[in-house]
Formats: sequence, structure tokens, C-alpha cells
Amino acid sequence: MGDIERRLGKISQPQCNGRDLLALAGSVHAGISSLEVLVHATGGTANFESLRELAYKIERTLVEDPPLATKQGYLIRNGVSAELDELIELSTNAQAMVSRMEAEEKEKTGISSLKIRYNNVFGYYIEITNSHKDKVPANYQRKQTLTNAERYCTDELIELERKVLSANTKRADLEFEFFEALRKEILNQCPALLGLAHECSEVDVVSSLAWLSLEEKYVRPSFTADGSLKMKASRHPVVEQTVKKNFVANDIELRQHSCLLLTGPNMAGKSTLMRQVALIAIMAQMGSFVPCDEAQLPIFDAIFTRIGASDQLSEGLSTFMVEMTETSAMLKNATKDSLVILDEVGRGTSTFDGMCLAQSILEHLLSEVKALTFFATHYHELTSLDQSFGQITNAHMTVAERNGEIRFLHTLVKGPALKSYGVQVAELAGLPATVTRRAKSLLRDIESKRVQASSQLSLLDSLSADVEIPALEMDLPEATQISESLKNLLDEVEKYPLMQMSPLEAMNQIAKWKELVSNQSIKA
Ligand code: ATP
Repeated sequence: MGDIERRLGKISQPQCNGRDLLALAGSVHAGISSLEVLVHATGGTANFESLRELAYKIERTLVEDPPLATKQGYLIRNGVSAELDELIELSTNAQAMVSRMEAEEKEKTGISSLKIRYNNVFGYYIEITNSHKDKVPANYQRKQTLTNAERYCTDELIELERKVLSANTKRADLEFEFFEALRKEILNQCPALLGLAHECSEVDVVSSLAWLSLEEKYVRPSFTADGSLKMKASRHPVVEQTVKKNFVANDIELRQHSCLLLTGPNMAGKSTLMRQVALIAIMAQMGSFVPCDEAQLPIFDAIFTRIGASDQLSEGLSTFMVEMTETSAMLKNATKDSLVILDEVGRGTSTFDGMCLAQSILEHLLSEVKALTFFATHYHELTSLDQSFGQITNAHMTVAERNGEIRFLHTLVKGPALKSYGVQVAELAGLPATVTRRAKSLLRDIESKRVQASSQLSLLDSLSADVEIPALEMDLPEATQISESLKNLLDEVEKYPLMQMSPLEAMNQIAKWKELVSNQSIKA
């Protein structure tokens, strides 16, 4: 079945063609057949007669494979109208009539090489070679002289030409009239056709979801009155399709107005888990089965999400501005009956600004909004908030680490995560070894400084304006480790007169630098 709405859109334009009408007829037949199966199965009644009749009429009127042009005839079938049939007969048999006249003239004149031809300038003419010039009858009127032949016409030929040409034009005009009438008839039935399309699309959605539920073992969800949420072996309906058997199902349980504070390494599956909760909620509320072994959830009045980083530069909004604008809308509009999903809020600004914002946003959600909240963060410091807010359940996605190598287990377990593994994930992503080595050394340094700092102040409990936060970035061991040879190399690169070099010279120079780098092991 094709797209009836799209076809109707085309048919509403005068430049549509016969194939569009036939495609619509095919879709109408297919749509009616599928709905009839359904009506039959459910014991209902439905009347598709007028649409079915319309589809038949289209097929009865148009030839099987109509041309793309609609104004040149040859698209309406024989039998549609007696007047058109006569014109079709005349225009189709014109060649036969011309051949008959040619034979008669040959007979009458005794000129065997006599020909009747047609061109756009002179119309039909009789051509006689010069060798038979003396046999040309008196009623032949000369039209044109060529080197070897003369061209003539007769009154009979002129009459035949008039009939044939006018039959062709009349046929084309009449066919176009029938085509337009059919097009209008279709457009008059637009509401019924759109109704059919709508019903078919509903059947399509519902039957697809039913199939999916069978194939993927979805279950019927139930709705809780106490605002609690419980999902057993829940899965992400889309990610599950890509990772197939490797997808790890997770159990999720939350009380009314509570928050799952999700930590864990990059790539561990935090976003996936939160999005799957939102998708399951949407699927449940639209009446579908859901990808879980068991699902009980409240009816949400809205779902608010703040996920990913994007900007709207043309609207004057930077990435962080978009993040904050969306969070602001969320905090203003979410209610205690909403589902709120916040993925790494605050990461678009400096570490401490971001962390403080994340904490205050979370506190506001818990104490003011009271929506059911999923909050993923890399600010591990937030995990101790569970001591002040009983609604918080700390959870993390697990990772197995052996000999410095990590494996994502994608399993949700209670309690805060202990590490981020950001550098290891960057390594997996193929960042140059020099970059990740440097990152590791910086990280070691920062962590040792943090241990010292944490004995002097607790970041979580007392991050206030009058407490001086250690300026971690400023203390980094910087250029001291950059070797002399690297400095020389950088100088050379900086001064290299690239614009005066040919591509080949530039390539050779790059090759030399590469060799230098690998031989001397210049490292930062
Ligand atoms: P980041 O902090 O870097 O944003 P994340 O913890 O949010 O990472 P996701 O983006 O949710 O991680 O997941 C990363 C990838 O891990 C997904 O693209 C998916 O292929 C895989 N994955 C996530 N969850 C599961 C799961 N439960 N089972 C199997 N694979 C999963």
C-alpha cells in the first residue's frame, strides 16, 4: 500500500499524471482489503463501497500504462465514451487510411513509386519522381519541387488530412477532459480517502507494535496509584536492536517523588538507562506493551529531558545557554507528577560552577518540584547528598577493570561509582598515546592535590562563596616537562614558510619532522 496522503497531495496539483491516479487506486484497494480483514476479525461493519467504486473507476478509465503527458492523448481506455471511441478509431487508423489512398493513387496513375508522406511544413503530400512526371494527373496540385521529384496534393488528400489532424487534436482534448473529471472526482472524495489513510496508519502502528511485542517479548505495563516505579529487566527498545543479545537488562525501582542519582564511567550506559525509562513511559502511556519482564509505573503528566550538548547559534544561544534555558524551563514547568531526566547537567561550564549548579538544580527538584527524577552526573561529589535527602538512591553502572583494561558490564547496581575512567575511554576512542599519557599524569597530580585539599574542606557540604576553592587548573605541571628538542621543533614548525613551499616540499618537510619525532622520542 502506498502513501495515500502523499498521492493526494500530488493529485491536487494540475501537473499530476495518470500513473499517480492508478497508484492511488492500487493503494485504496490494498487499504480496503487490510481493513476488511480487521473488520471481519472483530465482527464490526464498515462501508468502503464508494471508495472501492472510485478505485475501480480509475482503473476502468485509464490505460494500464499511461504516458506521463496528460494533454497528448493515449491515456483513456476504449469504451469510456462513444465520441472518444470514434476519434480514437480515426486517429489510430489514419495510417491505414493513408496507405489505402496511396495504393489507390498508384493504381489510378500507374506510378508504382508514388508515395504519400507527411511533414510538419506541408502536411500530407504525394511525391512523384521526375521520371514519372508526364503521368501526373491534371487534378494534382503542385506544392514543392525537389531535385529528383515533385510534391503534390489533391482535394481528397487535403480532406483526409483535415479529418486525421482534427481527430488527433480532438482526441487529446477530450481525453484530457476525462482525465480532469476523474481527478476532480478523486479530490471530491478527499475526506473519505484521508479517513481510509488514517485508519490504515493506525492499524499499521498498532499491528507493528503488536508484532514487536511478540517478537521481542514485551509485557503489558500496569499503572501505579502511589507514584512508584518498578521495572524488571527493562531494556532500551532501540539500543537492544543494535547490540542484540549483548544488551544487559536492568531492574529499576523508585518510590514516589524520589531520585535515582546515577554515576559511573563514560560509556557505561547511564544515558541509555535513563532514556529507556522515558521511552517505556511513553510506550506505556500510548497503550503499547513495553520492553520489560514486568513494568509498573505512574501516569506522568509530562516528561522533561535535558540530554546532550547542542547549540542554537543562529538564535544567539551558546551550548551552555541552551543547556541552562532548557533546565530553567524544566524547573519551572515540571510538577510532582512529571518524569524528569537530567543527563550531566552543568558540564558545559567550569568544574566548580557546573558542580554547584548541578547540586542546586538537584536540590530544587527534590525539595520544590518533587518530580520522579533520573539524574546522571560525573560529579561524584553529589553522591553524598543522599545523607541530606532521603529521596535519593545512589546507583551506578558497573565496569570490570583488569590490568588497566576496562570492560563495560552495563549493569545497574546500588551505591555511588568510585571512578570515571574518562582517560581509559579516551584511549579506547583512539586519542594519541602522548595525549592520554599526559592526561593520566595530570590526573594523578590533581588527585593528590585533591586529597590534600579535602582534608581542609568538604566540597560538598561547604561550597560557598567565601570558601576559596583550590585553583586546580592553575597548579598543573606545565611546560617544565617539555623537552628542549620539542621546543626547537615547535619553533621550526612555527617559522616554516608554508605559503612559499610547493606541496611536495611541504610533504618532505613533514616527513622529516615525523622521523625526528619518532627517532628522538620527543615527549611532553
Ligand atoms: P557518557 O557518560 O560517555 O555519556 P553513558 O554512561 O551515558 O556514557 P551510554 O551513552 O548510555 O553511556 O552508552 C554507551 C554505549 O553502551 C551505548 O551506545 C550502547 O551501545 C552501550 N550500552 C548502553 N547500555 C547498555 C546495556 N544495558 N547493554 C548493552 N549495551 C549497552
